[in-house]
Amino acid sequence: MRDDRILYVVIPCYKEEEVLPETARRMKEKMRQLMAEGKISPASRVMFVNDGSKDRTWPIIRELHESDPLFSGVNLSRNRGHQNALLAGLMTAVNEADMIVSMDADLQDDINAIDAMIDAYHNGCDVVYGVRSSRKTDTFFKRFTAEGFYKLMKALGVDIVFNHADYRLMSRRAVEGLAQFQEVNLFLRGIVPQIGYKWTTVEYERAERFAGESKYPLKKMLAFAFDGITSFSVRPMRLILHVGAIVFLVSLVMLLYALISKLTGHADSGWTSLMGSIWMIGGIQLLALGVVGEYVGKIYAETKRRPRFIIEQVLNTPEEEKR
Ligand code: UDP
Ligand code: MG
Repeated sequence: MRDDRILYVVIPCYKEEEVLPETARRMKEKMRQLMAEGKISPASRVMFVNDGSKDRTWPIIRELHESDPLFSGVNLSRNRGHQNALLAGLMTAVNEADMIVSMDADLQDDINAIDAMIDAYHNGCDVVYGVRSSRKTDTFFKRFTAEGFYKLMKALGVDIVFNHADYRLMSRRAVEGLAQFQEVNLFLRGIVPQIGYKWTTVEYERAERFAGESKYPLKKMLAFAFDGITSFSVRPMRLILHVGAIVFLVSLVMLLYALISKLTGHADSGWTSLMGSIWMIGGIQLLALGVVGEYVGKIYAETKRRPRFIIEQVLNTPEEEKR
């Protein structure tokens, strides 16, 4: 067993005033139980990251922190999205923690899986992925699109854990490894496998959102999926190249055909096919340009090296200060 056992649970929150009190209550129970069992140190914390919510999320976090040092808070200067908020929490927690669990605020991730994650950590794993054992509570549409997405990522050659979202445990050195990835287009579940180290998975049942509504409407979900693909795979670009090559070969055959028709005197019958091919090639060119533009856009964002988050305030009482 390892001796270092300070656990930080990082929870990004965006407009979560409806679920926060319940999440805090359940997490407190869980942390007390883990402490009683000696699995985690009494210096462990639950760290809520307020992702620029304008509702009562931050006041609630502040109240929690004042009522019990078990709760910490990080307030971002504005809304930066789930992945950046999570990163901000991880980078703040890594200063104090030996292991960090990340999870959503809405209690969809079964917090009882944390026990098994910590056991795996004590057995020498640096990364423990929470994997959903079923998608019973999802709508057919969500299940279909989500599982399709994981399969597509695999097909595109991206190393990604099937049915794993952002519910995972990472050791301190794994998070320090993550800190070295400087990309701005964050897709954490694609980056974490790149860190390496010994890893394992823990299965859990995903519940329905406890209260409030999803902060990932279809539009955001699609943008996130697209980001994931273009940040980790150049295959779409290559595919376009292949299509371009094939179209070029086809056009050579068409040229030959057109020449022969002209020589044999059937020239003006070719107007329709000519118009057709002009439109088709024009379309393919635009498509290719769009894909290339997508990657150029990514390069643009990366070269600017903008900060991925700005922290306005940190509320945390590490163990040393209490003494
Ligand atoms: N979230 C965030 N910033 C955002 C959107 C979401 O920090 O801009 C948080 C949200 O509070 C939750 C987690 O990310 O803790 C996942 O969001 P949600 O549960 O709405 O996504 P879903 O489970 O529907 O995919
Ligand atoms: Mg959710």
